Formats: sequence, structure tokens, C-alpha cells
Amino acid sequence: MCTKNNERTECFACGACCVAFSISTLGKESGEACNYLSEDGLCGIYSKRPDVCREFVPDEICVLIQGLSFEEKVEVIKKIYGM
Ligand code: SF4
Ligand code: SF4
Repeated sequence: MCTKNNERTECFACGACCVAFSISTLGKESGEACNYLSEDGLCGIYSKRPDVCREFVPDEICVLIQGLSFEEKVEVIKKIYGM
């Protein structure tokens, strides 16, 4: 969801946040992969992504979930954010 060059925590481009969150402006439900998520885990519309995506920044959760499977990452994010 984020740039790999974020000044705070690095985004590992796992793509899990682009699946876990619901994004109403994109008509995307929680747990559904965003149509703009590319296979390399990056955003296909990065310069035009919705505000909600711009506001999301990588944090310690990204580090904590690194060793998990993709499905586990999505589930952990959903649980942490109460989805
Ligand atoms: S628009 Fe881009 S940043 Fe937002 S959920 Fe989709 S792929 Fe991720
Ligand atoms: S969950 Fe974290 S590491 Fe994975 S793509 Fe989103 S911001 Fe990047």
C-alpha cells in the first residue's frame, strides 16, 4: 500500500494491507484484494491512490507479520484493526 522509501518503517511490499482493509471509494471489501494491487505487492495507481491509502503508513505491524504467510498477514491486520 505504501512506498518502499517511507521515512518511518519500511514497507516490505507484502500487499497484505491492500487486501485486509475495506476501501469504500474503491468498492473494496475487507479481505478482498484491491484491483490495483500488482503481483509485486505494489500499488498500480500509486500517484492516484485514494486518500485513505495515502494516509496509511507502514508501522511495527509490518515488521511483526513479516515471517507469516500472506493469508496470516491479512488475518493479523484484520484482527488488529477489528475487521
Ligand atoms: S489503491 Fe493501491 S494502495 Fe490502495 S489498496 Fe489498492 S493497491 Fe493498495
Ligand atoms: S502491510 Fe505493511 S509491509 Fe505490507 S504492503 Fe502494507 S504497509 Fe507494506
